[in-house]
Amino acid sequence: MEATCQCGQLKVRVPGPTQAVVACHCVACQRRTGSPFGVAAYYPDDQVSVEGTAKRFDRPTALEGLFENYFCPECGSTVFFRGMKNPGVTGVAIGAFIDAHDMAPIRSVWEQSKHAWVTIACAAQHFDQGRA
Ligand SMILES: [Zn+2]
Repeated sequence: MEATCQCGQLKVRVPGPTQAVVACHCVACQRRTGSPFGVAAYYPDDQVSVEGTAKRFDRPTALEGLFENYFCPECGSTVFFRGMKNPGVTGVAIGAFIDAHDMAPIRSVWEQSKHAWVTIACAAQHFDQGRA
């Protein structure tokens, strides 16, 4: 499966669908996406291959860590990200895939800053390959 930015310059390839999908309502994800929440599919770093040029923006996290955002310097889309909280795992922005329509989140986090009208229907499955 392939995820790309708006202009197609930055591409990420992963082996296929994963159940490790998480919706996040934190303010940083809201600002990163321009959307009321972010949804990420998480893969081990060695399953993620990146093609093209990514610009990196680091922001501090609530737990004194760093969250690395990788975005296309041409069109600005964030395609993937890594957090010190989950070493060895790369999050891929689910909206950057064209064929991820069955990858529903299994968890919804930071609901204290969730927009009131948003309802997330989490998938029933559980995953044990890394946590978000
Ligand atoms: Zn782009």
